[in-house]
Amino acid sequence: MRKPIIAGNWKMNLLQADAKALFGAVKNYLKDLSAQDLPVVVMAPTFTSLAHVEADKCQCGCGCNKIHIAGQNCHWETSGAFTGEISVEMLADAGCTYVIIGHSERRQYFSETDEMINKKAKAILAGGLVPVICCGETLEQREAGVTDTFIAGQIKAALDGLTQEQIAGSVIAYEPIWAIGTGKTCDADEANRTIAAIREVVAQVSSRTAADSIRILYGGSVNPSTIAEQMSKSDIDGALIGGASLKADSFNEIIKLTMEGMKNGAAV
Ligand code: 13P
Repeated sequence: MRKPIIAGNWKMNLLQADAKALFGAVKNYLKDLSAQDLPVVVMAPTFTSLAHVEADKCQCGCGCNKIHIAGQNCHWETSGAFTGEISVEMLADAGCTYVIIGHSERRQYFSETDEMINKKAKAILAGGLVPVICCGETLEQREAGVTDTFIAGQIKAALDGLTQEQIAGSVIAYEPIWAIGTGKTCDADEANRTIAAIREVVAQVSSRTAADSIRILYGGSVNPSTIAEQMSKSDIDGALIGGASLKADSFNEIIKLTMEGMKNGAAV
C-alpha cells in the first residue's frame, strides 16, 4: 500500500508573512484530522520562509507528522565554499524531511544535469532525508514520440548507484514540462500510463519490490478540479502542485478530495 503524497512546491513565491499565513491556514484545516486518514502532506517553501513553517505533529498520539517540510533544492557537498548553495544538513536543521531535486525549472534555467541530480539524491539519502526526483518531457519530445525513452534516461541516471531500499523509500514526480503552469493538465490516463512506464524502469534498474514501493507523483497544473480523477488511477501516488498550493483554499481542497479518494479506496 503506497500512501499518497500531496506536496506543494511554492517555487520562488511568498514573502515570510504570506508563507506564515498559508502554513497556518493549512495547519488549522488539518487540526482535527488524524495523520492516519490524511495523505502525506508536504510543503516546500523558499529557504527564507523555512523558519516560519514546521513539521506538524499529529495530536492523536500516532506519532506521525501531519505536515512535512521540503527543501526546493540542495547541494551534494556537506559544506564549504559554494556561495549561494544549501546543504542537506542545513535543510534537516531547518526541519526538512524531503528535498525536491531535478525540477525542470532547475534543469532548464540553472543547467542542472542528470549527474548533478544523482549526486544530490545520494547526498539527501545519506543525510536521512527523502529525495523527490522530478522528471518530464518537453512538448517537442512528446510530439516526437520519445517521451518514455527520454524519461527512462532521466530516471536511470538519477537512481544510479542507489540501493533497492533507498529507491523504495524515494519519491519520483512526473511533471511534463508543457503541463507546468499552463493550465493544460496531462490527460489522467496518459499520466497514469507514463507513470506505470516509469515504475517499470525502476523495476528494471532495481527490483520489483522497489518499483512497487516507490511513490510516483504527477505534477503539472493540478488543481481541485483535476485531483479526484488523477488520484483514481492505479499508478498515480499523489501530486506535486505549484500554483494551486499557494492558496490555502485550493491546497486544502486538494487534500480533502485526496482523503475522500483514499476512503473510497480510489487511491492506491
Ligand atoms: P503548477 O502546478 O503550477 O503547474 O506547477 C507544477 C510544478 O512545477 C510543481 O513542481
